Amino acid sequence: MRVVTWQAIETLSLDEVDAPVCGPSDVVLSVGACGICGSDVHSYTEGVWIAPGVPLGHEYAGTVTAVGSDVAGLRVGDRVAVNPAAPCGSCPRCSEGRQNLCSGGSGHSGGFGDQVLVRNAVSGQHLFVLPGDFPLEEACFLEPLSVAVRAVHHAAPALDEPILVFGLGTIGQCVVQVLLAAGARDVIVVDTSQRRLTAAMSAGAHEALNPSSDDVGASLFASRGTTSSPYQPRSGAIGAVFECSGAAPVLPLAFSLARAAAPIAAIALAAHPLSIPVDDLVQKELRLLGSFAYTPRDCQEAFDLLVSRRVDVRPLISHRFALADITAAFEAQRDTGASIKVVVSP
Ligand SMILES: [Zn+2]
Ligand SMILES: [Zn+2]
Repeated sequence: MRVVTWQAIETLSLDEVDAPVCGPSDVVLSVGACGICGSDVHSYTEGVWIAPGVPLGHEYAGTVTAVGSDVAGLRVGDRVAVNPAAPCGSCPRCSEGRQNLCSGGSGHSGGFGDQVLVRNAVSGQHLFVLPGDFPLEEACFLEPLSVAVRAVHHAAPALDEPILVFGLGTIGQCVVQVLLAAGARDVIVVDTSQRRLTAAMSAGAHEALNPSSDDVGASLFASRGTTSSPYQPRSGAIGAVFECSGAAPVLPLAFSLARAAAPIAAIALAAHPLSIPVDDLVQKELRLLGSFAYTPRDCQEAFDLLVSRRVDVRPLISHRFALADITAAFEAQRDTGASIKVVVSP
C-alpha cells in the first residue's frame, strides 16, 4: 500500500509500505477520502509540527477491511468517519473533561494513504458508523467540524447579538454553520477571498465584508452601532468574535469592535507572535479564549450535525485530487484565494 510522508519543506513522498496488520483491539480501514488541514499546509510550507518520515493526514473516512477479535460494534464493510484524537483518559486534563488538552494520548494519522490502522479502536469514540450511503468525502469533515463545535461551545456567544467570524477556511466556514444551526441571528463574515465569502453567504451568513475593498471597522461601527463602558467610551457592538484567520490586524480590530465582556475566541494558529491592545482587553473585561482541538463530546455533536446535514459541508469541497497527485493537492490547498477544502482520495 501507499502512504504520504513529510520529508522536508515543500517535499512530500508517496512511499510503498507493508499493509497494516490488525491486532485484536485494532481496526484497519481502506481510506475513501482525506481532507488537507490548515495545519498540514503549515507543516508542508514551514516544517512545523512534523518530522521527516512522519505520515500526514488526520481528516479521513473510509471502509472497514479488518476488525480485531476484541473490538465490539464494528464489522468489515462498515463505512466510518474517524476521530483521530486518542486522549489517554486518565490524566488531570482528561479527568476534568478537557481531553483536547491531553498530552499523553496518541493520534491516528496516515489518512493520505491506501489503508490506516486504528489501534485500540472503539466504536462511537474513534470510529463513527455512517448512515446509509452518506459520502465519505463529507464524512472526512468530522475532525474540522469538531474543532468548530468546540470553539462555539467554549465561547458560548449570545445568539441574538452580532457575531463576527474572521477567516473562512474550513474551520471558519464550519464555525459559521455551527452558529447558524444553533440559532445565531446576525453572523458577519470577513475574508479576502470572494469565493470563501460567497460560500459562507450561501450557507446563511447575514453579511460579508472583504478587507481588500471594505473598511471592516468603519462599516460595522456604522451598521451595528457603538457601546460604551468605563474608560472605553466608543466601542463597537459586536457580541462575540471568532478569529479563524491568523492574520495580524484581526485581534486589535476585534478588540475595538467588541462590546464589553464579549468573548473573543482565537482558533487560528499564527506563525508569528501577534500584538494585542491590552487596555481594551482589561478595561472591557474581554474574554480572550484560546480554543484548541475538541473533546469527545464535541466530536459526537459534530457527527450528529454532519450526518443530519444541519451543517452541510458539500459546498466547501473546492478541489478533489488522487493520492498520486498529493503535491498538486497541497499546492491547491495553499492557494487560499481559490480553495476552501481540498479532498484527496486513494
Ligand atoms: Zn485538521
Ligand atoms: Zn489525558
